[in-house]
Amino acid sequence: MPSFATSPGTRDILAPDSARWRRFQQVFADVVETAGFGHIIPPMFEDLGVFLRVGESTEIVTKEMYDFEDKGGRRVALRPEQTASVCRAFVEHRPVTPWKVWYAGPNFRYEKPQQGRYRQFDQVGVEVLGVDDPQLDAEVIALGMEFYRRLGLTKVRLSLNSLGDSGDRDRYASALRTHFSSNIDALSAESRATLERNPLRVLDSKRAEDAQLIAASPRMADHLSPAAEEHFLQVQTSLRAAGVTFHVDDRLVRGLDYYRRTTFEFVSESLTAAHTAIGGGGRYDGLVADLGGPDTPGIGFALGLDRTLLACDAEGVFGAPQSRVDVFVVDATGGSEAGVICTELRTVGIGADRAYERRSMKAQMKSADRSGAPVCIIVGDDERNANTAILRTMEGGSQHIVQRDDLVAQVRRALGR
Ligand code: ATP
Ligand code: MG
Repeated sequence: MPSFATSPGTRDILAPDSARWRRFQQVFADVVETAGFGHIIPPMFEDLGVFLRVGESTEIVTKEMYDFEDKGGRRVALRPEQTASVCRAFVEHRPVTPWKVWYAGPNFRYEKPQQGRYRQFDQVGVEVLGVDDPQLDAEVIALGMEFYRRLGLTKVRLSLNSLGDSGDRDRYASALRTHFSSNIDALSAESRATLERNPLRVLDSKRAEDAQLIAASPRMADHLSPAAEEHFLQVQTSLRAAGVTFHVDDRLVRGLDYYRRTTFEFVSESLTAAHTAIGGGGRYDGLVADLGGPDTPGIGFALGLDRTLLACDAEGVFGAPQSRVDVFVVDATGGSEAGVICTELRTVGIGADRAYERRSMKAQMKSADRSGAPVCIIVGDDERNANTAILRTMEGGSQHIVQRDDLVAQVRRALGR
């Protein structure tokens, strides 16, 4: 028989870690729903064309897309991100603006798998369509920071930049092209290739040989139109008013072609070089129009769940939740008592588990230990005949006899509920 393991870049998330994932999404839902965001669940695959709008020069489109032809001859792709899907949904449903949505779920990118970088990875995120107000930019960014705070993270740094309007961005790109082209011999081979596709991305190069040229390159700040500059200043003023600490990094360009004006990145100072970015976002004022809709401004962010949990591990916060089993029932009479007691407890909301196959007392006590349940109920023939049970507190090991028809109340007391 062949045996199988998960494909490269994918993982099984097992308990108790899986409960941590669920809690992560719940905390996020809590933060954003109290800020007026509604949940959107876009499909996991759609027409490839939707995702091509992310940008012909991006890695997502050039290298990482999981696209294929389905049996009906449609060219589809597993979603590499969800912003494009949200914009497609906006054009399809034309909701009233401002349209504030949040999402959670897996994306797919054909990447080289490594710690913090997977082919199936989860994100949570928000998008707001239809509002240009810089106060919104600050609010969206502050929500991201608030979420990290709720997880218990304290070492998240916020980098902020403005890429200007599309005209500014184009002028800046050509200034960069001129700068790098006239020093082309000093540039790494990789950056030379990047320069062809997208001069802004050269600023992302982490190669030592490029550092000097990058440091001497023209600055985005000098290419902002007055309107974009004013917008950016107001975002900063609103962030300060909201008490959000940030630093302006005018080398921050971010991967996607559709960004305009405000861009930002959340960086964990507790992670090491390869994957310190735990989330990012920005304005994408051209994307809805690119997808065939009316000219509509948009802003949002996506936070990587996998990487954020690595940051939580590094900071020692937001651990896996405790087992939900409150009581383990050990039954030496054959098992039917355990079945009855478990049902009785579960019905009133007390988590209960048991052993099977008439295991020995010793084996059942071992299972009780492993279950993590703070309380154990033991029933033997004597107890069953006397209509009693033994209630044992696992920590400390004290135990006493309780009446069978008083069992639920006694368990509640032992659990402190
Ligand atoms: P990177 O530069 O690390 O490739 P990116 O710019 O491609 O990141 P975005 O598309 O902006 O990332 O996605 C936002 C967040 O999603 C990232 O900050 C990261 O935390 C997470 N993320 C992106 N790609 C992956 C991946 N392959 N595996 C795990 N997390 C990822
Ligand atoms: Mg990437």
